[in-house]
Amino acid sequence: MYRKNIWEKYDNYEKIMEFNEGYKSFISVGKTERLCVNEALKLAIAKGFKPLSSYKELKAGDKVYSINRDKNICVFVIGKKPLQDGLNILGAHIDSPRLDLKQNPFYESTNFALADTHYYGGIKKYQWVTIPLAMHGVIYKKDGSMVEVHIGDDLNDPIVGISDLLIHLAGDQMQKTASKVIEGEDLDITLGSIPLKGEEKDKVKANVLKIVADKYNVSEEDFLSAEIEIVPAGPARDYGLDRSMVAGYGHDDRVCAYTSLMAVLDLEEIPNNTACAILVDKEEVGSIGNTGAQSSYFINVIAELLNLTTKYNDLLLRRTLTNSKMLSSDVSAGVDPLYLGVNENKNSAFLGQGIVLNKYTGSRGKGGCNDANPDFIAYLRNIFDNNNISFQTAELGKVDQGGGGTIAYILANLDINVIDAGIPVLNMHSPQEIVSKADVYEAYLAYKAFVEA
Ligand code: MN
Ligand code: MN
Repeated sequence: MYRKNIWEKYDNYEKIMEFNEGYKSFISVGKTERLCVNEALKLAIAKGFKPLSSYKELKAGDKVYSINRDKNICVFVIGKKPLQDGLNILGAHIDSPRLDLKQNPFYESTNFALADTHYYGGIKKYQWVTIPLAMHGVIYKKDGSMVEVHIGDDLNDPIVGISDLLIHLAGDQMQKTASKVIEGEDLDITLGSIPLKGEEKDKVKANVLKIVADKYNVSEEDFLSAEIEIVPAGPARDYGLDRSMVAGYGHDDRVCAYTSLMAVLDLEEIPNNTACAILVDKEEVGSIGNTGAQSSYFINVIAELLNLTTKYNDLLLRRTLTNSKMLSSDVSAGVDPLYLGVNENKNSAFLGQGIVLNKYTGSRGKGGCNDANPDFIAYLRNIFDNNNISFQTAELGKVDQGGGGTIAYILANLDINVIDAGIPVLNMHSPQEIVSKADVYEAYLAYKAFVEA
């Protein structure tokens, strides 16, 4: 059962390093699901993909994309076989834990203008204070026009942040448990401290809103119809003296999103089965809503594809799903050398050992898991071994340590064969997550081999 460290498999690391440069650019810009869709779209267009709406009919080799509400993107390369023989699907999520501005966020206190947030997804709140933060999002005005907001990732921009109590006065705070040491309602970002001249009340808040109005031509009320996400500022960086890893925000799950996307975009030959990568939103809050994996959007797009390839009817759609195979491309918990106690080593994911197959996730006796069928796992072992691709198998921590879920079960509910297959991550859900460049490249090769099979 011994498996080699990927770095030992390669004579030189050129391809690994080069691929990761592309990935670093992707996550350095793709700080929100909307920005990821935008970056994915640019990459797809550069590779000759065209919008689904531009096709009157579809034939083998056609390259298609579809976008849902600016927060999901699917790309397809139409295969040689009829669609009802099934698709090879790579599914990843492009939402990551973060802080969102509340709908009515702005207030003033003790000469500061601040904004209230509500966190999104599972975070250790204490990790988000006293670090540089950026703001990205959109504001929709009543006339239907939209303004994009991007502050903090350009080095000429200011950053924002959340304060924390000085250690000198933190005696009471330090007695609290980690889950209480920073409370959700205290994750308020500092926006400014200069009062607006001539203003009577809330002068500092007024000044900040004036700056916002001057730059974006929006009023305080327009934030009622805004989505502004507060995320760690700054680009992804090489990590480690040997530059073997990438430190960045949002590896979960943009690292699997990028590798899955590129696996389909880089297909050189027409695949047998239609190849697909779908990047979804809302995984971190339960995959609900019309941009989450539980939305009918994906099935609707498959129905459209059927309509443009052979014909659409309900039976054909059902057969298409039943015959499809999917890798739920989501990150795995990498073993952290400082916290060995939470894993059972034989069934754990190690950085540098390749893509991780999770037969099941879930918690407390596999509760809520997708349990991939063994024949499907054997099918994948065969593909990976035939293509000299490193992979490992793991569970999420030792039994009864905790757990988690992905989108795997949702697509499995459609009668698709699905397994979780992703890249191991350290510091998951923190502002600075870590992945191994070797795993990133090897996962890309694994995804490519899967859609080429
Ligand atoms: Mn994930
Ligand atoms: Mn997650």
